[in-house]
Amino acid sequence: MKKYIYLDNAATTKASDETKAAAELYADMLFYNPSAAYAPALEVKHKLMEAAQTIASLLGATKEEIIFTSCATESNNYAFECGIKNKKGNIVVSATEHASVYESALRLKSKGYDVRFVRPDKNGSISPEETARTVDENTAFVSIIHCSNETGAINDISAISSAVKKICPKAVIHSDGVQAFCKIPTDMTKLGVDLYSMSAHKVGGLKGVGALYVRKGFNMQPFIVGGGQQNNRRSGTENVCGIIGFANSAKAYKSKAAQFDGNKFREIFINALNGKADFTVNGNGKNSGYILSLSFRNLRGEVIAHMMEDRGVLIGLGSACSAHVRTNRVLEAMGVDRSYAEGSIRISFCPQTTEEEVNYAAKALADSVSELKEKIQG
Ligand code: PLP
Repeated sequence: MKKYIYLDNAATTKASDETKAAAELYADMLFYNPSAAYAPALEVKHKLMEAAQTIASLLGATKEEIIFTSCATESNNYAFECGIKNKKGNIVVSATEHASVYESALRLKSKGYDVRFVRPDKNGSISPEETARTVDENTAFVSIIHCSNETGAINDISAISSAVKKICPKAVIHSDGVQAFCKIPTDMTKLGVDLYSMSAHKVGGLKGVGALYVRKGFNMQPFIVGGGQQNNRRSGTENVCGIIGFANSAKAYKSKAAQFDGNKFREIFINALNGKADFTVNGNGKNSGYILSLSFRNLRGEVIAHMMEDRGVLIGLGSACSAHVRTNRVLEAMGVDRSYAEGSIRISFCPQTTEEEVNYAAKALADSVSELKEKIQG
């Protein structure tokens, strides 16, 4: 198989050594059902509790506040289905949410809820002020993404939740933390949220594993009912390999992330393109160093991505989970002109990405867009 430089880590990451070791151990030697009563099964159950403790410690939370799910899409759906206490209140979400939040909100709208969207600024950030203007004393539920999967724009969730609580102290606050967890500070004692979603496969875990933080004292009814696993909060035999791999992998990822400087990589790309292309950087305010979103005027993102693939570099086109949708809802909400929006690509890093890879990929991108422009003009 051809070897590629992989720069689409916001879509998914390669499984870490910790994940592979857990898969091997808990699929084979310790394959037991954690709900069984014999000693080796109890050992597995104990390891699951340790995994909850590990995730909790990365969040400044307790293990009782962690529920494992089948993915962050489930965590987000769960938050909307079971997190709304005041059924008569309105729902406030940002216009920059991942599809799993956005569609959950639209489903509630179709059921008659008053759903309001907070507009981002031109950098894709959601400000506490704009959020405060959108909520009112009847707001029941607020969901604001922590770090945008499209642009990497970071929202100040702590300031947003304080602003919300001044106007509607009883509103439930949820944040989708998928692109933030292990990459930027995610201390639940500071963010002021009730619910927070995470996904394993963005930090070296397996696909099909997620988690939802539920603040202690928040009465969350189960979304999936059945055998009563996870203290009756989420039924279904636990994905032992995936959960333990997720916890060990997240811990390792976070310690590597402490030394990672993605802004240096963003600069390498931007410098390589300056003077060679007509482009904008989407999300140039307070941004994650893991994601670089670029839009090229009058070019097509998918053509650029194919040219990059031919040069041995894999990049994204915005959210992989919504790649079938032609218009980019998030960029549109930010006011990115259509002549640019259609030429959008997303480059995303992980702590293992090397400068050598980035130098090669940046040159490949500059060459690809120059070639494309020549073809169009000639
Ligand atoms: N939320 C964000 C911000 C994401 O980037 C993604 C995946 O791309 C999800 C939710 C969905 O995660 P999962 O693939 O675990 O369902």
